[in-house]
Amino acid sequence: MSRLSDILVIGGGAIGGAIAWSLVKRGLTVTLVEAGRIGRGASWAAAGVLAPDWSGHDPSALTVMAEAGLAAWPDWVAELEDRTGLGLSFRRDGLLNVWVDPDAPHLPHDLATEPLPPAAGQRLSAAEARELEPALTGPILGGALAPADAQVDNPRLAPALIRAAADQGLRVLLDTPVTALLGSGGVCRGVRTASGTEIAAGAVVLAAGAWSGPLAASSGIHLPIEPWRGQMLAFDTPARPFRHIVFCGELVLIPRPHGPLLVGTTLEHVGFDSRVTLAGLHQILARVERIVPGLGDLPLARTWAGLRPGTPDNLPYLGSIPGWDGLYVAAGHGRKGIILAPITGELMARLILDHDLDPMLEPCLPQRVID
Ligand SMILES: Cc1cc2nc3c(=O)[nH]c(=O)nc-3n(C[C@H](O)[C@H](O)[C@H](O)COP(=O)(O)OP(=O)(O)OC[C@H]3O[C@@H](n4cnc5c(N)ncnc54)[C@H](O)[C@@H]3O)c2cc1C
Repeated sequence: MSRLSDILVIGGGAIGGAIAWSLVKRGLTVTLVEAGRIGRGASWAAAGVLAPDWSGHDPSALTVMAEAGLAAWPDWVAELEDRTGLGLSFRRDGLLNVWVDPDAPHLPHDLATEPLPPAAGQRLSAAEARELEPALTGPILGGALAPADAQVDNPRLAPALIRAAADQGLRVLLDTPVTALLGSGGVCRGVRTASGTEIAAGAVVLAAGAWSGPLAASSGIHLPIEPWRGQMLAFDTPARPFRHIVFCGELVLIPRPHGPLLVGTTLEHVGFDSRVTLAGLHQILARVERIVPGLGDLPLARTWAGLRPGTPDNLPYLGSIPGWDGLYVAAGHGRKGIILAPITGELMARLILDHDLDPMLEPCLPQRVID
């Protein structure tokens, strides 16, 4: 077993990519090991919305971190685009959150009547919401506008991160599933891959999204991360039907600048099954028809689904694994992994390199589930 790197990162999604890029920028030698291709997990399937808290239901620690993530995005993506020449279409379109029925089970219960959390933006009447988005002809009751919320072409994110990091020395192993974390005497010494090869490293970062739980379990570490399936579809539209990203409960409509209208999403607990179902599409379309009757008549461009890495308390696991020196985890970002990618990369690099535990990481430390 030869020691190749200071740090080995498991997983080539937005989170593994962001951490790898942060580490190589600080001069470390890093190897990233990916089971398949780069960025084909949740980071590809996502809606690409950068909104700190559109539901009003997130834990405050998550919203604080997501606000820091959104603040970091403009400079971070500018540097990424500059270094790679890849366009990621970061745009501050703003997010319009509308509600239709206070009794609807998916409605954030307090958004319609109580003071809005700051991240939700400024309250609007139904008429004001319709003035902003005339296509909303359904029976909406009101809305809230968060003008600083943004969108990004998320399928390009992980490939851009890996390209930028590789230009600065990252070594990438594709089609290489990690099957075990190697440890002795309470110290993590590397990983074993499906071919039986052992790769040594000074430290290991587990960033395998929804798959992090089973991988940790195979080495006796209990890390409750559950796949939450989300289905999406895209309509071909002759013109951009909305100026803003529009949310209504679980429904999200994202007008891509030059492309289709993306529509999502479901939240399903069906294990590691990332197939699209008619029931899922039906659920999305029924919600669309409530606020934009007739939108479902547009030609369907494509459908897809992905697996969010969900945790029981809706907070990611970020930090070192108790009892395993040199083993870190950055997984469980749920519905927020795209907005959280820059801040996760930065805070994890500072933790690993400088042992600097930012206060934002404290609620996310994995010891809350590991004795
Ligand atoms: C439909 C949908 C909509 C979403 N919308 C948004 C949104 O609008 N905004 C937002 O911020 N977030 C959104 N999310 C959530 C976001 O996509 C995730 O939180 C984020 O992508 C997680 O990134 P990740 O790198 O941890 O996981 P992933 O992107 O899933 O990457 C994990 C990687 O690890 C690899 N891997 C797995 N097992 C192994 C192994 N044993 N060895 C080596 N590699 C392995 C996988 O192949 C994969 O490439 C959405 C998710 C979905 C599914």
